[in-house]
Amino acid sequence: MNTTQLIIVVPCFNEDAVLNETTAQLSEVLLDMEEKKLILSGEILYVDDGSRDQTWKLIEDLSQKNKRIKGLKLAHNVGHQQALWAGLEWAAHKTYDAIVSIDADLQDDVNAIKEMAIRYQEGNDIVYGVRNERKTDTFFKKNTALMFYRLMNTMGGEIVYNHADFRLMSKRALQALIIHPERNLFLRGMVCSIGFPSACVYYNRKERFAGESKYPLSKMINFALDGITSFSVKPLRLITIFGLSFMVIASLMICYALYAFISHHAIQGWTSLLISVWFIGGAILTAIGVIGEYIGKIYKEVKRRPRYFIEKEI
Ligand code: UDP
Ligand code: MG
Repeated sequence: MNTTQLIIVVPCFNEDAVLNETTAQLSEVLLDMEEKKLILSGEILYVDDGSRDQTWKLIEDLSQKNKRIKGLKLAHNVGHQQALWAGLEWAAHKTYDAIVSIDADLQDDVNAIKEMAIRYQEGNDIVYGVRNERKTDTFFKKNTALMFYRLMNTMGGEIVYNHADFRLMSKRALQALIIHPERNLFLRGMVCSIGFPSACVYYNRKERFAGESKYPLSKMINFALDGITSFSVKPLRLITIFGLSFMVIASLMICYALYAFISHHAIQGWTSLLISVWFIGGAILTAIGVIGEYIGKIYKEVKRRPRYFIEKEI
């Protein structure tokens, strides 16, 4: 007997053009999963992220007609990550066994949720939805995304390539996530850092069903910067490394400048100027780097992240 109660959390910002269709498709998937005994029951939670259109009215109407549907209305637009967090936190305090997060615009394949549930039954706490290809994305979005994943990985933040916020989490994983106290959210990185058994489900990402993207370039850049700075203090360490390299170059330059001075190749004043520029530049960078190291430590401390999660106990 499968007793899994599933909830799908969907953040919505000005999505009145898609919600009817989203509801129809998600309900169909949930019904199918119930019939196949993949889950016992399935519900949908719409989080209205301070929309300025008819989104909340629509959620109210839908919840009248369809008992699967629940709604949360946020008082102000707080952004995708915070809105999703609101839904996750709400669900964590209820009795759901598993939660799925998905965007409202039907770009992610709703049928992948079935496979996620199967992976979950096999014992995975986190199932990442990973898109196969980026056919429908523009050349620009595809390449900036790729650059971002590379940069993020070299900076030491672990993320799953081509995975956004379409994923399933078990109750245990969800509870581990919501005790992260930080305010700067980069959920795809935070979820990866939890650990616990995980699996990937692959799907093709489609075009937005209707409406337009709520992630213009400016928001994308902010999000990428947030991702890197919330997961890594490496940019600060880079300053120290630069500073020390400058000092090494400075000492070579000093030897060269002194040699030129002694052998009378140098113009008057050149030696002292050259030495000062390299040495002072290096010294300043090193000093900033040292300060950076401490700021990095302070940053890690103030986040007060949980230190570990226990996966098994015997
Ligand atoms: N979204 C939100 N608050 C915002 C911006 C977006 O809740 O301030 C939601 C939006 O309704 C959608 C999801 O976040 O469900 C992803 O946004 P979108 O599809 O516009 O981003 P894209 O797929 O273009 O990156
Ligand atoms: Mg989208």
